[in-house]
Amino acid sequence: MQIITSIRELQQIVDDKRISKKRIALVPTMGFLHDGHASLIREARAENDIVITSIFVNPTQFAPNEDFAKYPRSIEHDTKVAEEAGCDILFTPIVEEIYPDGFNTSVKVGGVTEKFDGVFRPTHFEGVATVVLKLFNAAKPHRAYFGQKDFQQTLVIKKLVRVLNWDIEIVIVPTKREASGLAMSSRNVYLSEENKTHALKLFKALKNAEEMLLKGETRRLKINSAMESVLKEIPDVKIDYAAAASSDDFDEPEIFKSGDEIILLIAARVGTTRLIDNLLVKIP
Ligand code: AMP
Repeated sequence: MQIITSIRELQQIVDDKRISKKRIALVPTMGFLHDGHASLIREARAENDIVITSIFVNPTQFAPNEDFAKYPRSIEHDTKVAEEAGCDILFTPIVEEIYPDGFNTSVKVGGVTEKFDGVFRPTHFEGVATVVLKLFNAAKPHRAYFGQKDFQQTLVIKKLVRVLNWDIEIVIVPTKREASGLAMSSRNVYLSEENKTHALKLFKALKNAEEMLLKGETRRLKINSAMESVLKEIPDVKIDYAAAASSDDFDEPEIFKSGDEIILLIAARVGTTRLIDNLLVKIP
């Protein structure tokens, strides 16, 4: 596995690969890789000729009060996980490579960024869209892989690609969970054992809401309040949102219809750690 830190160098490599008709995949990450990230890399490995994994803790997607400085980092660990999962090129630029002095341009995707995490992290998706666009320009992939774990992010990226006419296929990979049901996340290292037990309520709330939908409950607010009740079993929980919405455009009708695909979304603070999780449900 090659480790590349320069955009220009990466572009030269991928230009050569494209000339020899190789299919290029990009897996963008912020590092501290776990098996959720590895599952994206493995899927990219199975479907493409060249797999590039980027590791970049992107400062512009963190608000000043968030965890940019203390976000976990370990390049030795990441090198091992990425290589074992089948990565060919690890792209690890420093901040100045992505944002040179005087960089003051950004991409703002409308619509899907205005609800849920967009309300609680108002600058987040602009940072995400900007860095993803820069990573696409650096790696020139045919396909890019993203996790369903960050569901709203997948809608933002799909829209970014569509409205800016990028010829890139966006592949969404299901969420990897611990045996307990806890969604894997680099931020889980912040959780104490007690926090981890509490964090299981997120998945419990989602599964309970799924069961209600499958048994015929179609009233959106009933679903939302059932998720909130489960989350409130966590001591000192702060719920940002617990919401059911249409999975393609985040529409929130009062009553869901048969055949609708619903996304159940949760963001809540457990201890000092903000966690997100979600579940897709097809109404029978
Ligand atoms: P991150 O490093 O947290 O920015 O995540 C990088 C990519 O991995 C994103 O597309 C995430 O959605 C995806 N990802 C994170 N956690 C998981 C997980 N538990 N299962 C599947 N994909 C994940």
